[in-house]
Amino acid sequence: MGSIEALRGTRDILPEEVCYWQRLESIARDILARAAFHEIRTPIFEQTALFERSIGEATDVVGKEMYTFKDRGDRSITLRPEGTAGVVRSYIEHGLHAQGGVQRLWYLGPMFRYERPQAGRQRQFHQLGVEVLGTASPRADVEAIAVAADILKALGVKDLSLQLNSIGTSESRQQYRAALVQYLTPYKADLDEDSQDRLDRNPLRILDSKDEKTQAILEKAPSVLDFLDDDSRSRFDLVQALLTELGIAYQINTRLVRGLDYYSHTVFEIQSADLGAQATVVGGGRYDKLVTELGGPDTPAVGWAMGLERMILLLKQLAPQTKAAIDFYVVSRGDQAEQQAVIVAQNLRQQGFSVEMDLSGSAFGKQFKRADRSGASACLILGDAEAEAKTVQLKWMASGEQHVVAQADLPNYVASVRQQISAAT
Ligand code: ATP
Ligand code: MG
Repeated sequence: MGSIEALRGTRDILPEEVCYWQRLESIARDILARAAFHEIRTPIFEQTALFERSIGEATDVVGKEMYTFKDRGDRSITLRPEGTAGVVRSYIEHGLHAQGGVQRLWYLGPMFRYERPQAGRQRQFHQLGVEVLGTASPRADVEAIAVAADILKALGVKDLSLQLNSIGTSESRQQYRAALVQYLTPYKADLDEDSQDRLDRNPLRILDSKDEKTQAILEKAPSVLDFLDDDSRSRFDLVQALLTELGIAYQINTRLVRGLDYYSHTVFEIQSADLGAQATVVGGGRYDKLVTELGGPDTPAVGWAMGLERMILLLKQLAPQTKAAIDFYVVSRGDQAEQQAVIVAQNLRQQGFSVEMDLSGSAFGKQFKRADRSGASACLILGDAEAEAKTVQLKWMASGEQHVVAQADLPNYVASVRQQISAAT
């Protein structure tokens, strides 16, 4: 029988790679905490209707990318394709709006979309996202963008560009949509197939087309910015002014409309020049109507989501990250020595040190090689002689210096050299 492999579009994150994820997560957590964002964890599956209603039936995500199935109780269930819908459902269900003021939330976890897998595009992937609920102020848009910029900066990611646009209100967008359709209709036969299809269903998405011929036709298309009302325009001006004040560079991109139906006013993406075709690492915008759409009170909001697989690809292009080193590696051989080693190792762990015990029972030479590779500060050696005398040999890996220490004195001894251990690791 053949062995079973991971499903197409899913990946194992092995220990060598996990260290990149942990660094990203810990830096992000710190920065989010500094900006007074709180973590929220929502279920990985939800009622299908939640995503249909929030993301919109005409989108690629709902139309062709969702993992939807019937459970044993004949309910239609969907593995979440993104994080906002679940957060908003939870916000409404638990009456977080009743706590008053603004809720600043963040989440991190796996998302699921049935897509064609390629570098930076998977069927199970991870997003870190933020949602600022309960304010229409453009200052919140800027705060959300700034926190993303801070995370990227702290991680040392370079060659990024912030693409910014305003898609106005649903009313002004309606007018823009009509103008766009009117402009594109005479060219219909020359558009790529997807765009022809979108002309009726979701014409704004045509602006996203990667097809060269479609792009050329779009050159002279009307701009969404020309349709903004005065309020949208002054919001957009304030967002730009504050970003400039904060030293956050941006480019206005009138073609940026984002894939999900629920956005209004500010939309943005952060793209990397180092990722090839899957260039967008952060996508977000304002979604003032979503909370009411899902049955909650009128609650304007803004948020973004960061694709972590793409971030990890970028982090791997920077400094290599290695597994955390340990303090002690315990080498032992002979029945009595091996048993004493278990106790020595456990006592050191309870003192707060990290300790790896060699369980191989192989020759000392082989165990020493593994001790070298472990990156430990010191190696503890127990053979028949040490077992007999109730001692251990402590060998500093850097200098090769070696001491005999009574097992009973080991706690005091290692406490006295704690400085040396943490300095070495
Ligand atoms: P794309 O145009 O690349 O398909 P999207 O507009 O569908 O992106 P969003 O729904 O805005 O993406 O999700 C936010 C971010 O999540 C993206 O910018 C990307 O970094 C990441 N992302 C989205 N889909 C995937 C996927 N299938 N695999 C890996 N990362 C993804
Ligand atoms: Mg997509």
